[in-house]
Amino acid sequence: MFRKRSFVLTNASIHSLSETNNGDICVVGKNIESIEQNRIDLSRTPAVDLNNSWVFPGLINAHDHLELNLFPNIGRGPYSNSYEWFDDVNAMRGEPAMARVLAISMNDRLLWGGYRNLLSGVTTVGHHNPYHGAVFRKAFPVRVLRHYRWAHSLGLAESYGGRPEVESRKAGSREPFIIHIAEGVDTGAAGELRELDRLGALRTSTVLVHGVGISSDDFQLVKERGACLIWCPSSNMFLFDRTVDMAQLPDGIPVALATDSTLSGKPTLFDELRVACDQSQMNERQLIKMVTCNAAKVLMLKENTGTLAPSSTADLLVLPRRSTDSGKDLLASRPRDIQLVIKAGCPLYGDVSFASLFDHCRIKVERVYVEGKAKLIMHGLGALLDRIRDKGAMPPIDVTRG
Ligand SMILES: [Zn+2]
Repeated sequence: MFRKRSFVLTNASIHSLSETNNGDICVVGKNIESIEQNRIDLSRTPAVDLNNSWVFPGLINAHDHLELNLFPNIGRGPYSNSYEWFDDVNAMRGEPAMARVLAISMNDRLLWGGYRNLLSGVTTVGHHNPYHGAVFRKAFPVRVLRHYRWAHSLGLAESYGGRPEVESRKAGSREPFIIHIAEGVDTGAAGELRELDRLGALRTSTVLVHGVGISSDDFQLVKERGACLIWCPSSNMFLFDRTVDMAQLPDGIPVALATDSTLSGKPTLFDELRVACDQSQMNERQLIKMVTCNAAKVLMLKENTGTLAPSSTADLLVLPRRSTDSGKDLLASRPRDIQLVIKAGCPLYGDVSFASLFDHCRIKVERVYVEGKAKLIMHGLGALLDRIRDKGAMPPIDVTRG
């Protein structure tokens, strides 16, 4: 009989939203089978001692454009709205910083987008552009949201993605309908939410990305319609020197935090969490919910995604325990600090000391240096880095072949 792959992570400091516990996590196949304190029978499963390290749910980056993550921040802001920035970026396509990246194949740019998220402890990404099934469904470093409807924005709906009223209707209540909205600080941006509502596209399944120009009154309308928000503060600060005032947001609007692409945002979700902390009065636990359970709710992921619970998918992030506060330790993290990332029961990135776990799970890995530290990562990154550097481009995270 076929036996599912299994292993136990022992001596884990488990981050939960209310408290932290020490325990053992049993992974069977793609799922967490149990989380218990010293009660799991270790005799039949390989056990990996985490030595008290923190274990978080794998992070969820709710909004990215995976093919745009080899660009540096490009723009000459502050702008009044994102359409001005968009025109500016298009006018700079011939400049070396952009031309070098555009010379790289779409598949390689998407693949790097996957790796850059894996290097940030991310296991699930919301991609805001067409779904590239042939790339995302093969060995891809992260899970990419499959069931969604999207329009780029009200101003570019005809050029990118579908029409909001059509896509929103197709989404129904089963899928999120995702759209950039009010990405700007002028009256045009401020009017976009009402226009979306007039089109009948502001509904329970609607996910608004950015919302910088939405007034306090209009956020009440967002709440009444049951829509959600994805907040990308580093991109907002780069383009407009302003972001959503989270203190003004009515309670009850689900909010996810996301990077957007490196054309306007920060290189990692860890960086984004720190910007979010600087730009709000929220504490670490509130912010971590925005990249775990709240992000799962916004993207309508299956139940228990973004939590550590028996029967949930085994998406895990392991980080060193440097203090008694898991939230503070996560917000201080960088890619080199990550000890282990597990997606659906498969370890894909981590410390060299976990080599036997990668072997046990039959994951083909290679050695790389991340911010100067030796790591193991799912096979393919070294050759990808060669192809990227052949075109003269530079990844925004310090990672080199081992
Ligand atoms: Zn975006």
